[in-house]
Amino acid sequence: MIELCNIASDRIAELDVINKTTISSAVSNLSNPQQTRIIVTDPNTRILYDSWEDDTLDGKYLLYPEIVKSLEGNNVFYWTYSDGVMLSHAATPVSSYETQIGCVYMTEHDAEQGALIYSLQKNILMISITLGFVVIIFSLAFSSVQTRRLRKIMTSIRIVRDGDYTHKLNLSGHDELNLLSNEFNDLIARLQISESKRNRFVSDASHELKTPLASIKLLSDSILQNDMDSETIKEFVGDIGAEAERLNRMSEKLLALSRIDSMPSNSAEITNVVPTIDRVVRMLTPTANKNRISIETIYSQDPTILILEDDLYQVVFNLVENGIKYNTADGKLKILLTVADNNAIIKISDTGMGIPQEALEHIFERFYRVDKARSRSTGGSGLGLSIVRNIVKRNNGEIQVESIVNSGTTVSVSFPIFEIGDDIK
Ligand code: ADP
Repeated sequence: MIELCNIASDRIAELDVINKTTISSAVSNLSNPQQTRIIVTDPNTRILYDSWEDDTLDGKYLLYPEIVKSLEGNNVFYWTYSDGVMLSHAATPVSSYETQIGCVYMTEHDAEQGALIYSLQKNILMISITLGFVVIIFSLAFSSVQTRRLRKIMTSIRIVRDGDYTHKLNLSGHDELNLLSNEFNDLIARLQISESKRNRFVSDASHELKTPLASIKLLSDSILQNDMDSETIKEFVGDIGAEAERLNRMSEKLLALSRIDSMPSNSAEITNVVPTIDRVVRMLTPTANKNRISIETIYSQDPTILILEDDLYQVVFNLVENGIKYNTADGKLKILLTVADNNAIIKISDTGMGIPQEALEHIFERFYRVDKARSRSTGGSGLGLSIVRNIVKRNNGEIQVESIVNSGTTVSVSFPIFEIGDDIK
């Protein structure tokens, strides 16, 4: 349309005389008069020519913004759409010898393009409505499926909360909720294991505590019910004391076990091995002397390892104590500290009764004792090695036992050497 306006402007600019008749002959063949209305104004917006005969605006002033803009020297074009008709407006200035002598203003009604826009509009509306429905239906279906799955998870949580650790959550699909259900099942499996461990521990512990308590009761009943001489009473009271002492030792070990279990896994300090071994030896020498057992310590260097000093003390103490308890009179106990492959290795060998092959795999179990009767007489609780293994494991160490019945036992524990400047893992 701008092009048409420009042609009209050029033709008008070339006219010698500008009036309605000359303009009409210059622009009449430019477009379809049914569709396009051509208005030509002078520089004061007064209409010189209007192609619409019926409703002519000839002689009037037309202050349309597009006419005003075009009289300022601009080409103007815009279109509107309403009631199925596309209405285009264009205006260009008419210049002669670089002076604005008027403006050509055209409007065009295009019903065909209007119909196209209308049908496009209708289609877009239909598609939007259909899409809206589809989205709503899908969202409803999806949210109802997800709600059902979430309800299933909630039900499972309640079942497990009420104590059923055998429950399994089965969710179909391969999404995040599915991953969550797998994690949930793993968690329950762990809970089940720790719950059964706890139950076994409580029943073992109460069974172990019952035996000395029953002895104490039996001994005290005997003192009360029988007429005894003071010598026998003294003997019985001594036995009661020994049983109480055994109970005391056992509760100390149980406390040590629960302390190790509840300790954060990363609690450790840089510890020198030799001073700890020396401390244990000083502590247990009186007991060893009582049983006429000699203790020999051999080490050429003092490695440092990453472990709580109390834990290392507990490990060495339990092993040396066993080496004394299960030794023979006049037996020997050797503590050898070596360094190999960046590990500190503590080997504790005794010349005692040894451990039968079939018992070796059980000695680290809680409350396990090879010879219950003998262990009782030595005050054994069956917890010492279990504590040792726990501490060794949580400090990245290893433990090995070699034993020959009636010849002796060697227990080796090794821990990675840790020097200042090493990275804590
Ligand atoms: P306890 O407190 O009964 O000594 P432990 O857990 O320390 O418990 O040891 C478990 C069992 O392993 C002991 O009851 C004992 O029979 C056996 N045992 C451990 N160390 C030795 C050893 N050095 N020589 C022979 N038997 C041992």
